[in-house]
Amino acid sequence: MNAEIIAVGSELLLGQLIDTNTSFIARHLAENGLELVQTTSVGDDLDRIKKVIQEASRRSAIIITTGGIGPTEDDLTREAVAEVFDRPLEFHPHLMEQIEALFKRRGFRMSENNRKQAFIPQGARPIENPKGTAPGFIVEHLEGVLISLPGVPFEMEYLMTTSVLPYLRRRFQLEHQIIKYKVLRACGLGESAIGLQIKDLMKRDQNPSVGTLASIGDIKIRITAKADSPVEASQLIEEMEKKIRERLGVLIYGVDEETLQGKVSHELERKNLTLSVVETFTGGILAQKLAHAGSHAFIAGFVLPMDKSISDFLDISTDEFISLQQNPQTLADRLAKKVRERAQATIGLSEYGKVVGSQGGGESRIETYYSLSMEEGMLGLHHTLGGELWMVRERASIIALDMLRKYLLDLTPRE
Ligand code: ATP
Ligand code: MG
Repeated sequence: MNAEIIAVGSELLLGQLIDTNTSFIARHLAENGLELVQTTSVGDDLDRIKKVIQEASRRSAIIITTGGIGPTEDDLTREAVAEVFDRPLEFHPHLMEQIEALFKRRGFRMSENNRKQAFIPQGARPIENPKGTAPGFIVEHLEGVLISLPGVPFEMEYLMTTSVLPYLRRRFQLEHQIIKYKVLRACGLGESAIGLQIKDLMKRDQNPSVGTLASIGDIKIRITAKADSPVEASQLIEEMEKKIRERLGVLIYGVDEETLQGKVSHELERKNLTLSVVETFTGGILAQKLAHAGSHAFIAGFVLPMDKSISDFLDISTDEFISLQQNPQTLADRLAKKVRERAQATIGLSEYGKVVGSQGGGESRIETYYSLSMEEGMLGLHHTLGGELWMVRERASIIALDMLRKYLLDLTPRE
């Protein structure tokens, strides 16, 4: 079944607004086995909106519009739909009451404009919107359906999941076409290296299908299964997950929305450990990520961007610092030990990085050193990285967290 999305709003064309609504709707249509054939963005212009709707209705049985159903002059989607399908706008007292009730609940005075939102095309079904003032609506026409949703993302998402998808599943008998997916998250090897290890599992048109998506230092492996029932889809995913895990093993750190820092924090808590970090080149990224994970295991973070701040932190003379720089791994080890003792944490983690040259094209070469300090000893790691500085900083922060994760995986929980 063909589907398309039309996002309405001049802000989208001016580059002032990122069209997250289209990606949300697209994801949900795909999960329900509908084939998205085109997405269009159009400005707040009646004739252009009409033209786009006309074209889309020739191609696709299902059209979803988002935006332009508010109360203001530039909200023109309902007029465009009414004109294209020749269904004059009709007033619905029942919708008016709901809009009035919402204003009352929120303690705002309703303006005369909002009356406009109680009008929907003749014969359309309203989609009641308890999250906002603009109700959506569904127009069933000879070739298919057109569904208009508000532009405000949380309202649109609510209506999409609670009303539109159940409606589409009923109307187009999609009940028995279940699509489920699971994301395995990996780090520590490039996308192409991971791709090579699971190449045979990634062939096209397989069920379940496997695809990878890489961002800096972090790789998502998505398994998608189609089946007649949720149980069957889960089984297919489980079998494929097992195969992938056999190949990639410890490279996989989590699933779905899990993050590396979340995983590390969870392991620290589970093992009753505390962590303090000190970073130079990454400039606070490590601390920020750990703070974001919201764990009480992370007790301190220090950012030392200058040589002077490093020597002060270690409480050593400039000469001593210069000679330590000849042995950067030792420097990283000293930092990890110091930060552990200073914060009285069970684990100290350090990152020390130095730009050692330019590779041209705005890219640099950076030597990075990492160290973990525990009461029972140290662990060190060195990586030479290259690229734009912001990118290398991100990668370095992932390497540091991943080093800690791998260490924690080998530990047994403390009493
Ligand atoms: P309202 O009643 O709020 O006017 P509406 O349906 O008219 O609802 P718009 O006026 O088009 O919606 O958009 C309202 C706001 O929702 C925009 O200012 C923007 O912040 C957000 N928005 C609209 N369209 C999108 C989109 N495609 N992706 C992400 N955000 C969007
Ligand atoms: Mg609006």
